[in-house]
Amino acid sequence: MNRKLIAGNWKMNGLRADLPTIREVAVAATGQPGAPELLLCVPATLLSEACSIASGSALAVGGQTCHVSEKGAFTGDISAPMLRELGATHVIVGHSERRTGHGESDEIVAGQARTAQKAGLIPIICIGETLEERSAGRTLNIIKGQLSGSLAGLESAANLVIAYEPLWAIGTGKVATPAQIEEVHGFIRSFLKGRFGDAGKGVRILYGGSLNPGNAPEILPIPNVDGGLIGGASLKAADFLAIYATARALSV
Ligand code: PEP
Repeated sequence: MNRKLIAGNWKMNGLRADLPTIREVAVAATGQPGAPELLLCVPATLLSEACSIASGSALAVGGQTCHVSEKGAFTGDISAPMLRELGATHVIVGHSERRTGHGESDEIVAGQARTAQKAGLIPIICIGETLEERSAGRTLNIIKGQLSGSLAGLESAANLVIAYEPLWAIGTGKVATPAQIEEVHGFIRSFLKGRFGDAGKGVRILYGGSLNPGNAPEILPIPNVDGGLIGGASLKAADFLAIYATARALSV
């Protein structure tokens, strides 16, 4: 069984007034052996302060995207080395909001993941189908295509996380059923074993999509669910920590 990872995605939320939430989460993070890992991916503007708050605690801090290039004339973008320098350990790449809102293709996502790994960050590569694709019975084909494209050229499975986030479940309050999650996560695991051999067993596969304290006890124990990527419920320390507590109870 892989060590679980409970990751929050604050998206474009959070001002300095919200730093006490990060402090509360950092204080609750336990570094005990076997305990789940806890991560908050905050807006770039809060990264520096979040890293200072988390310093010395078991809370890790991550970014929400990075550019394919390490530096250059890309106004408004942020690079993987910049995130790493601030103290980030992870970066989300290929979130559906970036794929749809910023035209980030599988090829771009693969480039971001490679640059992230080179900079010493762990990329969390997001994949997931739309409702139309699911209704048309194309879910596994879509997932296979996204995995092939988004992992292109990645040599190491050691520093890699995959997040399965059905688009119709993100921020909607609709959650995939345990059977749907088990099927897709099992498929992703087989793909990873085919792609990376035995090392594919150790790649963590997170579920994301309206995960909350109420449904976490049903979702986190599903085979091949190695944690969660949590949007809305990560904004409140009490909710995020309740999901973490569920993961902790499963780890003992
Ligand atoms: C996400 O954006 O990654 C996400 C899973 O959001 P939510 O938990 O709000 O559905």
